[in-house]
Amino acid sequence: MNELCQLTLHEAKALLERGECSAVELTEACLARIEEVEETVRAYITVTPDLALEQARAADEARVRGESAPLLGLPLAIKDVLSTRGVRTTCGSRILENYVPPYDATVVARLRAAGAVMLGKTNTDEFAMGSSTENSAFFTTRNPWDLERVPGGSSGGSAAAVAADECLAALGTDTGGSVRQPAALCGIVGLKPTYGRMSRYGLIAYASSLDQVGTLTKDVRDAALLLEVLAGHDPCDSTAADVPVPAYTAALTGDVRGLRLGVIREWLENPGLDSGVAAAVQQALETLTTLGMEVREVTLPHSDYALPVYYLIAPAEASSNLARYDGVAYGFRAPGADDIWDLFARTRGAGFGAEVKRRIMLGTYALSAGYYDQYYKKAQKVRTLIKQDFDRAFEEVDVVVGPTSPVPAFKIGERVDDPLQMYLADIFTISVNLAGLPGISVPCGFASGLPVGLQFIGKPWDEATLLRVAYAYEQATDWHTRKPAL
Ligand code: GLN
Repeated sequence: MNELCQLTLHEAKALLERGECSAVELTEACLARIEEVEETVRAYITVTPDLALEQARAADEARVRGESAPLLGLPLAIKDVLSTRGVRTTCGSRILENYVPPYDATVVARLRAAGAVMLGKTNTDEFAMGSSTENSAFFTTRNPWDLERVPGGSSGGSAAAVAADECLAALGTDTGGSVRQPAALCGIVGLKPTYGRMSRYGLIAYASSLDQVGTLTKDVRDAALLLEVLAGHDPCDSTAADVPVPAYTAALTGDVRGLRLGVIREWLENPGLDSGVAAAVQQALETLTTLGMEVREVTLPHSDYALPVYYLIAPAEASSNLARYDGVAYGFRAPGADDIWDLFARTRGAGFGAEVKRRIMLGTYALSAGYYDQYYKKAQKVRTLIKQDFDRAFEEVDVVVGPTSPVPAFKIGERVDDPLQMYLADIFTISVNLAGLPGISVPCGFASGLPVGLQFIGKPWDEATLLRVAYAYEQATDWHTRKPAL
């Protein structure tokens, strides 16, 4: 293996700036790694080698001309739910199998403007609905730490690509945990910013009050670097708030003395928590104490309602968002229809997979006349209570902490026939989306030889403190330097 593909973004950036390697060399190293391991890992739906090399050459030429940009010449992968102009964007679905967007998502445009190189589009559960990539219409991605196991999901392709060094970093999306959970299962760093921190223009919608773009990286500094480039107001997305974007990399001081950390009691007492995961999290809490943080317990009394609330709100919004796939304007169209209603039914029947159909039915039911107040509106009220639990906790502490996933990577096929078991994979991540908060997962050890993730959750818009704490923890440990023997 060419070691260039193992670098973090900031390490590669330093080499490029010192003239010790070129963007073409970095890109070729990643493409060679893709060639080497992709047959077993299967992280990418589409690889774009020609485009990548063209962008890398342009980056090298720009550097020769004396130009600079924050990500100039750095190769990244992009989850296949983010629109890329001229490059097929499938959402892991048959219904968009041949869809080529005419425009870039804002986050993709910002990557391009920052000089980044795009290696390709990564696998995902269909329309980001899932926790393992097993709901992808195309194939299941494998966990680089154990090829019999899932990489997590729905951004499992991005997480596996980063963990296997098939790119330096990747973009994902997180509606209920889809960046943090696969990051935990693949032993890397996954950041979901505050709802509204990054534009979602061009992110193909799943559940609009929850969806947020996030990053999958090899360390915390890279997460800060990407957030600096991607965050900020966008006139194309009314939810992308006009809030100042601080210099996140400057927040990485390594000093967390006196900061208050809240340990979520309900999460550590959850009966579904694997004992190996619990032990790794306990050890991490001790490390955080030795760093001078004031560790205390906090309580989120409405924790038990997060899962049911999410599985009403997310499917309800999905059923509305996915109404646009009808075979008329774009995407797959089923042949042989007798009339327009038959066309809709045949197209959606053949174009969507089982989990997407299940959620459309659930969501349509929850929104239907007579049930709206009973289910959807009730869920929204409980959502407010969940948010208030966090508000109260943040009156006492600066950051809260808990496990990211209750279990390490599970076996392919183990949960796929039992939707409830699959939904439980996100028990500790979904409340963060319901409350709109920023969260990050960082590696904190191993359980049964598989990576474990530690989740920090911050106050709204306070990614700076969140990253500062995550960075200090990372610096005190070496979990993030471990690589799978692939
Ligand atoms: N696993 C959750 C779901 O299936 C979360 C997915 C996500 O964050 N996109 O909805």
